[in-house]
Order: sequence, then C-alpha cells, then structure tokens
Amino acid sequence: MHSNQYSITEVKQIINAGGNIVNENTISSLLTDSRRINNAADGLFFALNARRNGHEFVAEAYAAGVRNFVVQHGPEFNLPGANFLLVDDPLTALQVLAAYHRGQFNLQVIGITGSNGKTIVKEWLYQLLAADKNIVRNPKSYNSQIGVPLSVWQINGRNDLGIFEAGISTINEMDKLEAIIKPEIGVLTHIGPAHDEGFSNRRQKVLEKLRLFKKAKKLIYNYDQLTDYQKDIQVKETFTWSRKFKMADLYVFSETVISKKYYLRAYFQKREIECLIPFSDQASVENAITCWATMLALGYSAVEADKRIERLAPVSMRLELKNGINDCSVIDDSYNSDLQSLEIALNFLGQQNQHEKRTLILSDILQSGLQQDVLYCQVANLIGTQKIDRFIGVGSALMNNQTCFALSEQHFFSDTAALLQQLKQLNFREETILIKGSRSFEFERISRALSQKAHETIMEINLNTLLGNLNFYRSKLKPGVKVMAMVKAFSYGSGTFEVANMLQYNKVDYLAVAYIDEGVALRRAGINLPVMVLNPEVSAFDKLVEYKLQPVIYSFGLLDDFVVYSQDRSILNYPIHLKIDTGMHRLGFENLDIEILCDMLEENRYVRVQSVFSHLAASEAAQHDEFTKKQIKRFEKAFKEIEKTLGYKVIKHLCNTAGIIRWPSAHYDMVRLGIGLYGVDSSVPASETALQPIASLKTSIAQVKKIGAGDTISYGRSGSLLKDGKIATVRIGYADGYLRAFGNGVGKMLVKGTMVPTVGNITMDMCMLDVSGLDVSEGDEVIIFDEQHRIEELAKQIGTIPYEILTNISQRVKRVYFYE
Ligand SMILES: *Cc1c(COP(=O)(O)O)cnc(C)c1O
Repeated sequence: MHSNQYSITEVKQIINAGGNIVNENTISSLLTDSRRINNAADGLFFALNARRNGHEFVAEAYAAGVRNFVVQHGPEFNLPGANFLLVDDPLTALQVLAAYHRGQFNLQVIGITGSNGKTIVKEWLYQLLAADKNIVRNPKSYNSQIGVPLSVWQINGRNDLGIFEAGISTINEMDKLEAIIKPEIGVLTHIGPAHDEGFSNRRQKVLEKLRLFKKAKKLIYNYDQLTDYQKDIQVKETFTWSRKFKMADLYVFSETVISKKYYLRAYFQKREIECLIPFSDQASVENAITCWATMLALGYSAVEADKRIERLAPVSMRLELKNGINDCSVIDDSYNSDLQSLEIALNFLGQQNQHEKRTLILSDILQSGLQQDVLYCQVANLIGTQKIDRFIGVGSALMNNQTCFALSEQHFFSDTAALLQQLKQLNFREETILIKGSRSFEFERISRALSQKAHETIMEINLNTLLGNLNFYRSKLKPGVKVMAMVKAFSYGSGTFEVANMLQYNKVDYLAVAYIDEGVALRRAGINLPVMVLNPEVSAFDKLVEYKLQPVIYSFGLLDDFVVYSQDRSILNYPIHLKIDTGMHRLGFENLDIEILCDMLEENRYVRVQSVFSHLAASEAAQHDEFTKKQIKRFEKAFKEIEKTLGYKVIKHLCNTAGIIRWPSAHYDMVRLGIGLYGVDSSVPASETALQPIASLKTSIAQVKKIGAGDTISYGRSGSLLKDGKIATVRIGYADGYLRAFGNGVGKMLVKGTMVPTVGNITMDMCMLDVSGLDVSEGDEVIIFDEQHRIEELAKQIGTIPYEILTNISQRVKRVYFYE
C-alpha cells in the first residue's frame, strides 16, 4: 500500500512502541505478507499472528529488503541494520497507526457495513460520485481488521471523499474499525444470515454492525429490515428507504422490469420520482436502491441521481484466469485499475509458473488522486519488482510518461483500438498475459482477442474458495502436521497447474498424483513442490527420475524393479514412499510382508524412505469405526517396525479428508487432503459455512421450442410433456460428463432461479429441459451445479458419489479460474 510518509521515529511514538531505532528510515508502505513485498526500502512489516505466526516470516521479509518491523515483545531478532519496534500486539499497532493517519485529514467519509452488498455498494457509490469527488476507497473487499487499516492508510491530501466498507464476523470487532474509519455518513446494506454463526443471535449481530455508526452524523438504511431496531439507532439524522412504509424518506411503491432493466417509482419529499436500474436481479436492485437513497441523502437531485444510476456498470472484483491463444494463459482483470488492485493482480501473475514469460497489458490509471508523473513512477517501481518480461501500456497518460519505464521490451499505444490493430505483430505465444485496465478502456475486447473461444459450457473454479477450504482443514491440524494435497485426476476435475500454483504459493508440503504423466505436467508448469506418484509405471521410470517425482512402492515386484533400475544407473538414496495395506485391499504391503520388506530395505543404498502410509477404507462411516481402529493399529505396528529397521524417522500419514475431521488422533506427521479441498466432505455438517464447493458448472440455452401434449422428445422418443408446454435445448450432454443417467427427469438444472427437470434421453452434446411456464430465451444461463445447487445432490439423484461427477466432467468443458 502506498501513501504518505512518516519517519520511523514518528511511527514509534504513534504506536507507543519499545525497541531501538538503528536507522532513521522513512515509512510509506505497510506490509503484512512476506510474499507480497513491494517498495521494501520504505516499508514497515507487521508480524501479525494470523493463521501462521507472522514472526516466522520476519527473516523472509528481511531477505526481500525490508528493514523496519513491528514485532511482539519476545526473543530478539539478530538482523543487522533493521529497526525493530516492540509492541504487545502488532495488529493493534497497525490499527492505531491507521487511525492516526485518518486523523490527519478532514475529508468526508462514508462508512458502509451490512451482511451482503458492501463491496458492490462501495464500488457503485464510487462510480456514481467520482465525477465530482477525488475518492479513496478500500481496494477490492479489504474490509477486515487488517484490510481496513491498509485501506485507510491510502488517504492522501488530494482526496475529498473516503468510502470505506467494514466487515466483521463476531462481536467486539466493530469499535476497532470505527476508530480507523471514523465515518461521518453511514450506509447500511442488506442484513442476511452471513456470519450468523459468529454471534449468539441476529440481534447481537445487527447491534454490533450499528456500532460503526456510533459517531456518524447521518445514516442511510432500509427501514423494512430495521423496523424492530428503531430504538437502537442513535444517529441524529437518518435517511430511510422502504418498500412497505410510506413514511420512509424514499418510499418505493412501484417496480417493473422493462426489457431487462428495472424501473422504479418512489415518493421523495412528497414528489414522485423515478429511476432506471440497468440490472434486474434482486440483490442488485436492493444495492442500487441503497445507492439511490445515498445520493439523495447527499443532496443530489432526483434527476441527476437517475441519470447516473442508469449508467451503473457491473462490478467484478475477481480476476479470471483462462486459456489463451497460442498456448498462452490469460489473466483478465479488465474491470478496474488502481495501484492497489494492480499490486494484487501482479502478485497473482507472479504465482503463475506455467510459462517463463510474463506480459503485462495496462491501461492508464484514472482517478488515483496522484500527480501523473508520481503515479506512473510508482507503477514503474511496482512493475520493476516483479518478473515482467514485457510491458504494453495503453492510453495517453502512459504514453506521456514512457520515460518512467525501463523494461527490456515495452510498447505504448494511444488507445485500445491502436493496440488491437497491432495485436498480431506482438506475437503472443507461450506466455502468461495479465490484462489490467480501467473500465472505460474496454479491455474485454483485448481479452476476447487473446482468449481461446470458450464453448458455452464452462466450469468455473473459485481459487479463493480453494484457499478457504485448505485453511479450514489446516485449522483442524496440530502445529507441525504437514499437508499433502491430492491433485490426481486433474485435481478431481478442477485443473492442473492452476490449482497446483495456488497450493504451492500457499505452502502445502506435498502434492500427490496418480500417474507419472500427471507429475510431469506439473513440473513442466513450474511446480517445484515434492510430488508423490501413487501408481508409478515401470515403463516411465526415466520420466519419474528426470522430473524428480517420488514413487509409491506398494509391492515387492515394484521395489525390486526400482532398486534394479537405480542400481543400473548408480542412483543413490532416491526418495520413495511405502504403502501399507491395512484393510483397504487395493495396493500395498500387508502386515505379514513387513518383515521381508524390512530385510530388503536394510542397508539398501539405492532408496531412501520418505514416508510410510496407509489408506482408510471407511474413514467417513461411523458404522465402520471399529474396523478403522483396526486399520490404525495395523498401521502403527507396520511403521514402527519399518522405522526400527531403517534407523531414521519417516513421515507417517494415514488420513484422507474425512479422516482429518473424524480421526484427529491419527493425523501423525501428515494428512492427505483430497475432496475436501474441492469443497465436498460428508463428514462436515452442511452448517459449516467454512467449507464451500469450489466449482460451478454452467451452460446455456441453444433453442427454445413449443411442444404439444402428444409430442415426443429426444432419442427413442423417450420424453414427452403431460400438457402443452415448452422445452429448452441446452449445450451439455454425456460427452461433457452429464451422464445419461440424468435423463428423463432424473436430473434437474437451475434456469432463472427455478429448478427444472430433464426430458427425454440425454444426448451426446445436448439435452432437453422442461421449461413450461418460464420466461426463458436462447442464450440464457443454465446452472448444472454451484454452491447452492450442490454436487452432492446431483450425485444422489443418480446413485453415485461427488468424486465420480467431478472427475467425469470432460476436458472439452473449459475451465475458468477466479481469484479475488
Ligand atoms: C485419493 C486419495 C486420497 C484422498 O481422499 P479424499 O477422500 O478425496 O480426501 C488419500 N489417499 C489416497 C491414497 C488416495 O488415493
């Protein structure tokens, strides 16, 4: 985060820290993640104790050039030339510093909270007010105890309006955010069930949220939602909107959809006013009304508010990773551009190891509140710290500030059209391309030109959710227990390097694949984590060794083959993993084999055992718990003997996903996390909101047909409708992985919010849905599964398990990855 400057001595006073200052440095950026270090020289690193203890990363930050640290009192760091400020709690220090910074400015500040819609309302208010204000706001949805201070730190003297959202998940959090944001105007968005689990009841949650406004002068909210809380609202002046109560300041009395737009009529100051919203889904409408009310509360005329709201653009905080032309990977972030989101996008680009070459296409950054030369030198600095091989700048401001940039390959274009004309000549090939542009540059045109044409059925993978799931399981492990992520079978259908890059960046310890080829693909995509291969084929040992993959040895034959292979090539101490069959009866040495196995391993110089493991046959099922206990006993007996023979420690591991939750006493040194990573785990109650499916499968309607009561539908004349009605033919069939078993009404899909059944047999590339009575048209989106319409349900419909559904989605279905 970039902002103003403080001397380290000032910072020490502000946060009331101990420690000695050895160098009088200037601080302009606050750092909390050792993997994201830009501007190291004038950065201040806070060793926060989040999921990992931040103090473990101090050395890494130091190595990246950071010389100023805020750490907890405790053992001293011996790092020459660095300033260490000692405090009781580094997070509090970060918040205190941000609150101090906020106090230096008297700009107008709008504070936003609520359960849903905070980020959208913030971004929309930004769109609506940017014409006459110089605005500072949270990057993306940086609204947490850490995100808010980092956001507020960006305030500079040129800003005249701040719009900051605050998010909380439990009690006693809001006061801290209030002290940092100090909003003068409050906006409350929709209150729903999100984070209910962090509070004893809904009332407690609402009251906690209202604490953001305890010193505000004006509050804008939906009266219908807060009818029972009138006594709790302490703000002097309120501006309410309602769909039920005429006494509200803005009473919305009529809502109609006119060709996908939403037309509202309301009473305001005893006059009838109107507004056209360019969205029609309920959540967007509610957020837009909140923005409408806010504009009116700020004194804009009804005419002006309507004019601006009509032009609202969709907000996308997520960037998209997809396959590009000529074997490129394309990262599409063409919705907004500011320094902070550029930094986030560059960081994501940095995580991509699949191509050596990295290209950045960037538009002018509008509305930064900085002088142009200062801004573009900051941009150039930021880019300089990343591994960018070529830079393509689009826009007159970038053209005018070319001299800031010094990359070995750089091109500048006056506008998007000029770049599009030259696109061929730029010869994009086997590289990762980040496309980052302000909305008005319409970079989606560039993205379209550089992306592979997606067949209209796509599987969307949410990488943040993947990370959330990983952290959920990590929270169930004792410190020091390692995680092996199972990425076999194309990561259960979810992708190869896309998933692995994310896991590598987030420091899982091991990856596991089924076959050597799968491991080779990961290595070629730049994955350097240790990779275990479950079924190594003898014919591919060369590849195994060339790509430094580690075989699972499950039989005497395989052990013999590998030892002979190593002997012939004088390979010594090659890392292997031993699989013990304790009851699954698939692959592995049985307990009575262990003695001979030990004989073979004793003083064997060719291999070195990395780990000993076994697999539970029914870790998820309570009725088999006695059997599982037997497996655990057999496993312990086996590894003890093996370790005794070897004379060194090996990694012991037994639990798969369900085992992690149900058998905490059997985690040993490592767990093997599979399906849970992808968001499915029958042993976790559905109420555990921490676990979320990462994939959604979507397609679209190719044609809509009227069907008479007697007509038949699909092959074998298998389907028909009871009454006259209509069907939609959608672009997914059994060749995509939508199995034939879903035909004839067994499977259901979500069309415009309604679940509709299949009719007739599923065909190879298409199938038909009964959409009688629905207002649908060609091109409409159809959801096969997502986080609401869950994959577990689909599995149940055809009597299978989610694993089979996921791994059956064929490779011709394009995967698109999202990251926020
Ligand atoms: C696939 C697999 C796992 C992961 O199982 P989940 O139930 O998906 O967590 C673990 N261990 C082995 C040996 C596997 O083959």
